[in-house]
Amino acid sequence: MGKDPVDAGGPTRAGAFVVHLHDATRRHFDLRVQVGGVLASFAIPKGLTLNPADKHLAVHTEDHPIEYLDFEAVIPKGQYGGGPMILWDRGTIRYLDKSAEEGTASGKLDFILDGFKLHGRYALVRLKSSEKDWLLLKKKDAFASEERDLQAEQPASVLSGLRIDELEHADDRGAALEKRAGALSGAKRRTSAFEVHMPKPEVHAKLPAGSDWFVDVALGGVPIRATRDGEEVVLLLEEEDVTAFYPDVARAIRATPISAWTAAGEIVLFDEHGKPSMARLRERLAWLRAGDTVRATTEGRVVFVMHDLLALGAFDLRACSLQDRRALLSAAIPYPGILRPLEPIDGDPDAVIAFCREHGLWGASAKKKSSHFPPSQGQWQMTEVSPREPFAPHTWGPAVRRAGVMVKNASKVFWPEEGYTKGDLCAYYEQVAPVMVRYVSGRPLVLVRYPDGIAGKSFYQWHPPVGLPSWVGSVVVKDREHTQHKENKRAFLIDDARGLVTLANLGCIPMHILACLADALDTCDFFTIDFDLKGAPLPNAVRLAHRLREWLGEIGLEGFVKTSGQSGMHVLVGLGEGSSFAVARGLADLLGHLLVREFPDISTMERVIEKRGGRIYVDTGQTGPTRTIVCPYSVRAVPHATVSTPLEWREVTPKLDPKVFSMKTVPERIEKKGDPMKSLLGGAVNVAEAVARLEARVRESG
Ligand code: MN
Repeated sequence: MGKDPVDAGGPTRAGAFVVHLHDATRRHFDLRVQVGGVLASFAIPKGLTLNPADKHLAVHTEDHPIEYLDFEAVIPKGQYGGGPMILWDRGTIRYLDKSAEEGTASGKLDFILDGFKLHGRYALVRLKSSEKDWLLLKKKDAFASEERDLQAEQPASVLSGLRIDELEHADDRGAALEKRAGALSGAKRRTSAFEVHMPKPEVHAKLPAGSDWFVDVALGGVPIRATRDGEEVVLLLEEEDVTAFYPDVARAIRATPISAWTAAGEIVLFDEHGKPSMARLRERLAWLRAGDTVRATTEGRVVFVMHDLLALGAFDLRACSLQDRRALLSAAIPYPGILRPLEPIDGDPDAVIAFCREHGLWGASAKKKSSHFPPSQGQWQMTEVSPREPFAPHTWGPAVRRAGVMVKNASKVFWPEEGYTKGDLCAYYEQVAPVMVRYVSGRPLVLVRYPDGIAGKSFYQWHPPVGLPSWVGSVVVKDREHTQHKENKRAFLIDDARGLVTLANLGCIPMHILACLADALDTCDFFTIDFDLKGAPLPNAVRLAHRLREWLGEIGLEGFVKTSGQSGMHVLVGLGEGSSFAVARGLADLLGHLLVREFPDISTMERVIEKRGGRIYVDTGQTGPTRTIVCPYSVRAVPHATVSTPLEWREVTPKLDPKVFSMKTVPERIEKKGDPMKSLLGGAVNVAEAVARLEARVRESG
């Protein structure tokens, strides 16, 4: 672990894995392993085994985005995979023999897992007779066992501590814990948020013994007070807010069924020998500074070891006994996972001190079981054995920030030929935000993500992942065109530069927009006619576009033109306050047919490329309730990082070269020329009049 870094563009030797327990139509486990910037997924009905004699069927399913590393939710019934899904395990994977890419291609993956629960060697082997069916095997090693059943022993989520059957009723569990808190002797109703200052235990050479005392190992981690209030989690190191350095801990706290609590403990990074390591924590913080959150939270996985629970729900527990507080903590936060209650050690303090000395641990403490918070004199004591390592500095340093958003993997190369990076992409979207925001604000968006740049895998993404910041919203869009799936789609919503940079930060290169606003999903406010070249000459598209513009003018509409960012051109027509999608599509189709009738030698509405015969495809199919078009000023995932660029009509000449408009040139162009498309949306347009005039025109021309 830690020796084989994930090489951004190249073959994957190591990375993250996650196991979900998923109660869909049939209960199964999903093993997801990192390959480049995505998670290859295998559905395993019988789950992960410790027994080398087992051969468990593993069905290779579609890749999942990297955010699934901390995904846990009840997927709504009716959606694909509807049902609860818990994070059963998470950790590092190291590929043996071959890289992940070679292994998935050749049908054999050998690897070592190191998670909260799973450890040791496994293999996935594809069946000869099948594309999708693989077998999961446990290899013989120190972690193998013919008797143990890990799934029965440790059924709960490593994130929330909930079992799969509890996830849908997490609130009930939260309410039960709160009731239990309220029944403790000394519990008081909380009147306001309270300040907690951690007492420093008195240092003694010898610790008190006896059944009145808890004896604990003092791990010497980063002392943290954690407070949750609904979605808000704050982690304090002394008086400093260090929440941003522990996104995994904050996420786990948010996933617990308890909506408000205050706890104290220490964040510890255990090395491969199980020893707390401040050096490894420094490494983690450096990965975070470089924007590599996945690596920081995987190879740099930490545990929040919790010592004390000071408030839960409506109750202040400071006047309860430490024994009661810790019993409640153990009930609320199950082991093992990101959150872990400190387990007191049975035995006399001298034995604990000897253990600490042997393992180079900071020391041991003794706390009186009956003590309240803060304890009075002499109730909390400790013996120091080894010098405490100084805290790693929790500072950001010169991280790349764009529009206030920290860019992850800013130096990762996204365009290999040009050497353009992900940081360049985020910088571009920040720069063009002043003109681009008008096309995305309040409008459903769909992403096309390229986590490894244009040469890697990509996927079209509806359904915003969990864990996005508050300035990225979502809206449900009914998919009327695919009613047999009965599936609603959720689109992204942003309205500022931060939003654009956040999406680019997900590896989204082109952003696609719907032709409606989120608060009026049935009202189409522009339509598109797409001139798709596929090798046809551009001057012919120029002729068609100018003709289309003339006709639009004659029926009282205004056409705006942009390059597609690839070889073609799009003409967009604003519809003012909007019309029904049926009317908008009708207009687009009618105009398309008129063009093809007048220019049969150079244009066609034939979809099949081979039948186009070198003619330009006039595509009117991009107007519909769930149809999307690449947004003006969106970068395309092609060489040169070309941009879908709005043009002035006088620039639309046979000499037009769409390749000159790129991520590197467009910001300066905007500075000089402004945005030629800025009047597209929201003007006064008489759609009914335009339809009437166009129909009259069609009748006249027979
Ligand atoms: Mn599944």
